[in-house]
Amino acid sequence: MTDAPADLETVLKDAHLPALMTALVHMTGDTSWLKAEWTPAYNPADRNDLGIPEAEQVRMRAAAADAIRAHLAGKPLQMPTPDVATLRRQMDFVAGAPIPEQYVDFLVDELALKGQSTKDPKSVHLESARKRKVLVIGAGMSGLLTGIRLSEAGVEFEIVEKNPDVGGTWFENSYPGCRVDNSNHMYSYSFEPNHAWPQHFSPQPVLLKYFQGIADKYDLRQKIRFSTMVEELAWDEARAVWRATLQGPDGKTETLEANVVVTAVGQLNRPRYPDIEGRDSFAGPAFHSAEWRHDVDLKGKRVAVIGTGASAYQFVPEIAPDVAQMTVFQRSPPWALPAPRYHDDVEEGTKWTLEHVPYYDKWYRFWLFWMTTEGFLPMVKADPTWNGSPNAVGPENAGLREMAAAALAAQVADRPDLLDKVIPQYPIGGKRAVLDNGVWLGALKRDNVSLVTDKIVRITPTGVVTADGTEHPADVLLYGTGFQASNFLSFLKIKGRGGRELHDVWGGDARAYLGMTHPGFPNLFTIYGPNTNIVVNGSIIFFSECAVRYIMGALRLLAETGERSMEPKQAVYDDFNRRVDEANGGWAWGSPNVSSWYKNQFGRVSQNWPYGLIDYWRATLAPNPDDFVLERAKAPA
Ligand code: NAP
Repeated sequence: MTDAPADLETVLKDAHLPALMTALVHMTGDTSWLKAEWTPAYNPADRNDLGIPEAEQVRMRAAAADAIRAHLAGKPLQMPTPDVATLRRQMDFVAGAPIPEQYVDFLVDELALKGQSTKDPKSVHLESARKRKVLVIGAGMSGLLTGIRLSEAGVEFEIVEKNPDVGGTWFENSYPGCRVDNSNHMYSYSFEPNHAWPQHFSPQPVLLKYFQGIADKYDLRQKIRFSTMVEELAWDEARAVWRATLQGPDGKTETLEANVVVTAVGQLNRPRYPDIEGRDSFAGPAFHSAEWRHDVDLKGKRVAVIGTGASAYQFVPEIAPDVAQMTVFQRSPPWALPAPRYHDDVEEGTKWTLEHVPYYDKWYRFWLFWMTTEGFLPMVKADPTWNGSPNAVGPENAGLREMAAAALAAQVADRPDLLDKVIPQYPIGGKRAVLDNGVWLGALKRDNVSLVTDKIVRITPTGVVTADGTEHPADVLLYGTGFQASNFLSFLKIKGRGGRELHDVWGGDARAYLGMTHPGFPNLFTIYGPNTNIVVNGSIIFFSECAVRYIMGALRLLAETGERSMEPKQAVYDDFNRRVDEANGGWAWGSPNVSSWYKNQFGRVSQNWPYGLIDYWRATLAPNPDDFVLERAKAPA
């Protein structure tokens, strides 16, 4: 039993009150906590502003404190699992508006109030599934998750990882200022909450430690071959196994066989260097954000930065105070959404409440989930009847634009020369929006920083030349130019049925069914594959959890039917991709007015999921046997 702190009302000042009131329903069994006058009316410009008068908030905290004291003194939970009608009232209350009917089962599952969600399939429970071996490529967030589920199911597996440690993107990206841009209380496995995140958006070392801790907790390291590349996969038709060619740390080649292969290699880990004349001629150190050279001391140097996407947005403010002079080359500015808490520590009161008030963590996560996922999507939806500015795709998008542009403009009120340069001329949601607590424009306004928007024409040994003929001198050149995201699985040769190579089939335009499966490539599953990325809505961990649930369902299907392989029917795959392409046109990121890494060389949106999270959740509940060609093992002659 824990004693309530003497100053509990003060501790609760940090709590998210709607989540707290909702948690009290479980403790007290009393739904009258969900009072009309305590229902939040969130300010769209600052979601932490509940729109509830302070005097009411004091009453809410006082009432909550009494109930929490009673609970901590030993009063049992009165309503651990409310009925659906009560849950709906709780959801509406936290969201501050009625949740549409179609979301209810999805959100109940996401809440996992009984500790069990469909995304947490404890076991495949089938002997024949246990006889199969699974090869997982990658030990980042998705690969570790796959390992956890396979391990729980007792399925034999091995993970092959190119790096010497787990963590994937959080292992590779160590540039100054690197941090998550989704609230950590949502950017974590749903079944592994961390009540002690030090910041709302924690820095990279904290994220890496989280994933290393997961690998240790689930004893996964013994299953991982580190510093090893999978170079080729070849399907053996006769035996229905994938033969994988691996290259280990000593350079030796080895072969490994598996019935099923899961690729969990991310989309954003092959740096993209821009194709600029003279790039190799630069005499000083030149490196990419994802290959940060910590041995290069930037103090007192003249630094040129190419790119102003999510990575540069994080490292520029961090290094600007140290360098002698910084020139930031911007092709298009990022949209930024106000996020005052972006660099803030999690308040002690929040940590206490997460840890000690039952169900508070779940409702707090629910609030983050709803507000930043499905609740946000309408603002980036294209309205086909829209005939306003081409810099927006609909009235709600225009409203969001106005709010975000005003927030940016306010920050450069003292620097009118920057105003036109920092307000994007494409619809908000067209590219990944970054989170704004003022440090980015604060850095660009520094005396030692200049923002150059003229086109780069050449790189010389001593600097960068722009179209106006100016040479901008530099000692160090930093590339924040992103990744070869649409070159899916580019490091890997994959020979499926009849020896056909997957990249030849794709012809540079990678596709998959539900991002995961490919006709002609049996028992091959891709996590975070084509068209499974999200732009503004939520955490990619959600997608991986859905995908792994589906893959476990596929193992179950194979086990139950006794079939040895499965691959999607061509017609199902074609129809799915047709619908995806059509739907992507209905969002800001599909707008013809936007160029981004979400589109491939053909201008097709190859990265993004064009529906809500609910739709991926539903589509991946379990594989539909009718979608697949299932192949039975041939009886011996
Ligand atoms: P990015 O968003 O693709 O940004 C690349 C930047 O380089 C853009 O500003 C781009 O300009 C510019 N650029 C590219 N080629 C150029 C050229 N030839 N000349 C001038 N400028 C050029 O890459 P990123 O910043 O590495 O981020 C990639 C993704 O990683 C993000 O969208 C996000 O999903 C993820 N990420 C997340 C976080 C996080 O906070 N968790 C942090 C970093 C990255 P244009 O915009 O005009 O193309």
